[in-house]
Amino acid sequence: MALPRESLIEDDEALEVLDASAKHGLGVRTLVPRQAGAVVHHFTGVITPELRLHSLQVSEHLHIAETRFIGFLSHSCDPNCRLDMQRFELQALTDVEADGLLTIDYAATEDVLYRQFECHCGAPACRRWITGRAEAPNAEGRAYLASIGR
Ligand SMILES: [Zn+2]
Repeated sequence: MALPRESLIEDDEALEVLDASAKHGLGVRTLVPRQAGAVVHHFTGVITPELRLHSLQVSEHLHIAETRFIGFLSHSCDPNCRLDMQRFELQALTDVEADGLLTIDYAATEDVLYRQFECHCGAPACRRWITGRAEAPNAEGRAYLASIGR
């Protein structure tokens, strides 16, 4: 990028956590358009050795919990954002329109998920059952994948 880095930083506050009654449950949307490469949000939270439901892994043995937004990001197998766990930044990978749902690939940061789950993200390369990057599908996941011919 030729632009000075500061110019890519946008308003941290122009994000909104969707409530759990929304169609896809919790999620985070951006209230303003985001450009590919932009830093969407600088996050903070509590660093803990404990894997929790809404925690995210920052290093081999540490997780960040009690975050304002990033713990509520939806998974996609073809996400429009990524987390930089060195800079503690949420970065846009593609342009995202205002009101767009922000997504990350959970397996990009997590060795092990708090809970594995079926994925219906619709990406051509959807993995259909989401695990951490260092774990295999559990019994439920193996049964689900077998049932859909995977
Ligand atoms: Zn998927």
